[in-house]
Amino acid sequence: MWQHTVSKNISFAGVGLHSGKVVKLTVRASSVNSGIRFVRTDRSDQTMIPASMCKVQDTRLATTLAEGDVQVGTTEHLLSALSGLGIDNALVELNSNEVPIMDGSAAPFVMMLKNNRLRQKSHRLMMKITKEIVYTYEDIEVRVTPYDGFRASCSIDFEHPVISNQSYNLEVTPQSYIKEISSARTFGFLEQVEYLRANGKALGGSLDNAVVIDKDGVVNKEGLRFGDEFARHKVLDLIGDLALLGCPIMGHVHANKAGHTQHLAFMEALASQPDCWELVDHGEDGKESVLDKVKYATCAAGKKVLPFLLPPCSPVAQVA
Ligand SMILES: [Zn+2]
Repeated sequence: MWQHTVSKNISFAGVGLHSGKVVKLTVRASSVNSGIRFVRTDRSDQTMIPASMCKVQDTRLATTLAEGDVQVGTTEHLLSALSGLGIDNALVELNSNEVPIMDGSAAPFVMMLKNNRLRQKSHRLMMKITKEIVYTYEDIEVRVTPYDGFRASCSIDFEHPVISNQSYNLEVTPQSYIKEISSARTFGFLEQVEYLRANGKALGGSLDNAVVIDKDGVVNKEGLRFGDEFARHKVLDLIGDLALLGCPIMGHVHANKAGHTQHLAFMEALASQPDCWELVDHGEDGKESVLDKVKYATCAAGKKVLPFLLPPCSPVAQVA
């Protein structure tokens, strides 16, 4: 029920998956209600990029956020780690245009962050789902149903015997996130990696930061960390993208064959259906109170977002 930040500066170094550039990133403490914000220290303008769904610029391959021409790519694994650990407020400084991929999972972030959480003196608002919302696109579906807590389920279906049909379903708490989700790595097919490289992407990709699959199976010598590592990684990505809502969901999110693009479209559907959720605050006695009449707002880009995402998003937005 309390907001959290970090108790000290925590730094990471690694390469960007797509840029291949070496990057240093530092997570710093931030005040209550400031959310997660990125700032590029390699630029003189010090532009802040809030981790908000209305700042998403690109969802192909990874979730890229941007403010004007200032970008931060591959945000989802770090956001997943922060969200999975219940860290609401942080300033993330980095000296390149992409969050380092580390080992392809959220575990390196989690390892450093988990014992450095700092409780703050303000309650955390939650988005409590009161009615089902479904987003569908062709055979892809993302759905949320009312649930007393936060549960995430992902299923995937690839025409490859190593992956095929997998699903994973978890009640997400910091403990379960650390144990079951954080170390699941991103994955890709060898031929797809070769294609991406030829097109200037995945330049930092290697067997040290992704599970690579060829026609015969997993190329990585060490094999998989879990039999269903692929579906677990989808849960990791889903949690990272949902962090862009700006507050935790109380509900059960089911994603079937979804990726970053559909996660974003689902969040937009969610924000635009305020009769299906309410913002709630849990008091010290555990009692829930509903924040009346605080529904969606429209950001400068014309997208419907949660109102507390607005100050960094748009000073002219209006609450609906
Ligand atoms: Zn991922």
